[in-house]
Amino acid sequence: MKTDVLIVGSGCAGLYCALKLPRDKKITIITKGALRDCDSYLAQGGICVLRDEGDYDAFFEDTMRAGHYENDTTSVELMIKNSRAVIDDLISYGVEFAREEDGSLAYTREGAHSNHRILYYQDITGKAITEGLICAVSKLDNVTILEYVTLLDIIERDGECFGGVIRRKNGTLDIIESDFTVLATGGIGGLFAHSTNFPHLTGDALAIALKHKIRLKDINYIQIHPTTLYVEGQSGRSFLISESVRGEGALLYNKNMERFTNELLPRDKLTEAIFHQMALDGTEFVWEDLRTIPRDELLSHFPNIIEACRRAGYDPLNECIPVVPAQHYFMGGIWVDHNSKSSMERLWAIGETACNGVHGKNRLASNSLLESLVFASLASNDIRTSKMGEGVFDFGSICLDLYEDETIEAEYKKIVLDEIERVNNINK
Ligand SMILES: Cc1cc2nc3c(=O)[nH]c(=O)nc-3n(C[C@H](O)[C@H](O)[C@H](O)COP(=O)(O)OP(=O)(O)OC[C@H]3O[C@@H](n4cnc5c(N)ncnc54)[C@H](O)[C@@H]3O)c2cc1C
Repeated sequence: MKTDVLIVGSGCAGLYCALKLPRDKKITIITKGALRDCDSYLAQGGICVLRDEGDYDAFFEDTMRAGHYENDTTSVELMIKNSRAVIDDLISYGVEFAREEDGSLAYTREGAHSNHRILYYQDITGKAITEGLICAVSKLDNVTILEYVTLLDIIERDGECFGGVIRRKNGTLDIIESDFTVLATGGIGGLFAHSTNFPHLTGDALAIALKHKIRLKDINYIQIHPTTLYVEGQSGRSFLISESVRGEGALLYNKNMERFTNELLPRDKLTEAIFHQMALDGTEFVWEDLRTIPRDELLSHFPNIIEACRRAGYDPLNECIPVVPAQHYFMGGIWVDHNSKSSMERLWAIGETACNGVHGKNRLASNSLLESLVFASLASNDIRTSKMGEGVFDFGSICLDLYEDETIEAEYKKIVLDEIERVNNINK
């Protein structure tokens, strides 16, 4: 197969990048699962936006404070300044956000935000955004989406990327030749026993990057979300109880039903406080009380969360629910510059798998969808203006037999976990 641009991943980053690339480019998007099996689809709380110029300094400071001031300030500036254009694009694709009675956009708030600056659609903002992007992409003749196709490796020669080696659902191996390649493979939750992520998101692009000596950054910066629904003996994906629930007034209690912390602390600090309380109480969870939110607001803003709790046997309208922290987000990743370009020629990385430093050591709630979209757009601009080098590649020289071993994914998981441990040990 030959394509102009190969995009690996069909989350919001990959889809938006395809939409922003020129229509005369042939684009191929591959995804390891079904089209909608991506974390973008699961996002609940919302997406940040610069509400008005008066909020710029506070938005910047909130992002930096949450990130322990380790954030790349240019990336933060790019994210905030481009936020309105991204939202305008989403609305033009038909994405709906909650509105006030007068028709203006409604804003909510989450932990560590000093202002209401988050757009949302009920508690299924990610689904609303991803469906809008899928609908817009499906209208494009120049984009082909291939489901259940896994990237196993990139094709490299002399520091340039010429496409990828893939495995199809039926197990056959193939090569996709591309002038430009974009890695948009999401997070690493599949490496953990308890995570809010889809289990097939195992950081494959990171393993491939390590293999090709592509620069990584902050690979040990992993966010644990303070509140996921506790279900005894659960395996598989943990259900997130969005931070916006706490933003709207939900409280946390210890085993004696007493408050023990400020519920709007940044995620890492709140997670610490919960683990500390669980250790003191000798429990596997703490309680979250959603009854502090006005009933109308609870029903209209969080119907999906209420439904999931009821399925697990709890009625949040009448009782507290048990919550526990779980792996949620990956701040580190493939190092990229401010155009989302990796350290390898012809190779970009966007979304959660990339690290442009915008989140520093800890991500501020609802900055992830925004960052994924802004930096996908910057990648597409860069690709649009990139000239190909002189390099040519002899595709006949690739030995596909090397990829036949079905254990390759398990090896990749180990490579990434070992690297995280190595970096953690250095930083100790
Ligand atoms: C439960 C939950 C709630 C969240 N809520 C919010 C929120 O309210 N606001 C916010 O800003 N952020 C939120 N986030 C985070 C946010 O959703 C993600 O960070 C963001 O959507 C990442 O987008 P992405 O395009 O990088 O990756 P994803 O949307 O995860 O897409 C990754 C894609 O890569 C594909 N892929 C992976 N490996 C391969 C491979 N080897 N070959 C081919 N394809 C591959 C996958 O199949 C998938 O299509 C939430 C996350 C979760 C899990």
